[in-house]
Amino acid sequence: MRTRFFNAYVITCNDKFDVYENGEVWVEDDKIVYVGKPKNGFMADRTINCLGDVLMPGFVNAHAHVPMQVLRGMAEESSFHGWWNAYIRPKEQKMRPDDIYWSTMLGIAELVHGGITSVLNNYFEQPSTVQAFLDGGIRAAVGVDVQYKVQDDLRYKDWENRFAALYKDSPLLTYFVTSHSIFSVNERGLNDCTRIAKKYKLPQTIHLCETLEEVGNCVKERNMTPVQYLEDIGFLDYPTTISHGVHVDKEDMDILYRTKTNVAINVSSNMKLASGIPPIYSYQQKGINLAIGTDSVASNNSLNMFREMFLVATTQKALLHDASVMPAKDVIMMATRGGAKALYIDDRVGQLKKGYQADIIRVSCNGIHWEPNNDKIANLIYSAHADDVVMTMIGGNIVFENGNYYIGESIERIIKMSREVAKRILDC
Ligand SMILES: [Zn+2]
Repeated sequence: MRTRFFNAYVITCNDKFDVYENGEVWVEDDKIVYVGKPKNGFMADRTINCLGDVLMPGFVNAHAHVPMQVLRGMAEESSFHGWWNAYIRPKEQKMRPDDIYWSTMLGIAELVHGGITSVLNNYFEQPSTVQAFLDGGIRAAVGVDVQYKVQDDLRYKDWENRFAALYKDSPLLTYFVTSHSIFSVNERGLNDCTRIAKKYKLPQTIHLCETLEEVGNCVKERNMTPVQYLEDIGFLDYPTTISHGVHVDKEDMDILYRTKTNVAINVSSNMKLASGIPPIYSYQQKGINLAIGTDSVASNNSLNMFREMFLVATTQKALLHDASVMPAKDVIMMATRGGAKALYIDDRVGQLKKGYQADIIRVSCNGIHWEPNNDKIANLIYSAHADDVVMTMIGGNIVFENGNYYIGESIERIIKMSREVAKRILDC
């Protein structure tokens, strides 16, 4: 299949942040074969006139729990630890494999509708999740968790067995070793994660420094911050993406920089759960790779990269009392290339570039909230809505276009099944 996009405002997200005001992108099968000014010489099966809309790399969601979609609105106005222990975990225990499948499909619909083409997913019960990702056609880094409830001696073997059972060799799937957090996984469990990551050459991900309570408890127990603790046990010797990183000090930043650890920021979740505001600008100044995650809709109620981008930019301007920090261009790079790097797929994803995967979104600039279109880069961060995404392509396949989903199941069925799951979980 050969697709030609023309008459587009092409944001490449390449090293020079090249933009083509009247640009073209050509796609052959799963790859981009041309990006640049208009030219002839491509026999396309389908030609799409973008009418001046933005064409850019799909967003990379570097921290999410997609199967939690049906829990949206079930635990409101609660701070993190109460939210997790009293509401979320008991409800999660009631979810069956089939429930997780439909909940994940609902999440995939929201992801592609808002232009998210890759996601780093953290959850248990991965076979249902993997099946949903394969059916939905989204690019996913699947977090395979080291079960913290399994006895220490059995954990390593348990993980190997589960990984072998769910592993699917797909061009859209990669895998991460996931340990939930330092407060739910003991030191031996964390060491098992690193052992597994080394053996299978997989990156690791973990929630870290999300709340003051987590940091305070760690300092009290170990006389070390969570970042110092992970460095001390050798966890950060191996490629790692941490999520949150709200409460860190200068020494933590030095360690994260030295160990080339990626930080996935989840600013709306941190604000809604009253955890704090991450020091994004300080990370950036330190030279640490930053990515953006949505977290789950159980915590921030939306898989909306536009809202996250707006908050990444504006929270830092407000904190620093400086409107020049975190300019729109930097935030766009975080949401695309920074994310691809955090997922360890930046050799093929995150830019519109010849030879890269055709993960492309078209964002309509026609809404009244875009007029008079003086600055489309600024509009993307400060004015755009997730609904402005009119086309999402992943690996050369269009999965969302003009309100229609092409994700393996009808949207009507996904909504019906998800509502049934949500009702049962609420009732029991
Ligand atoms: Zn999370």
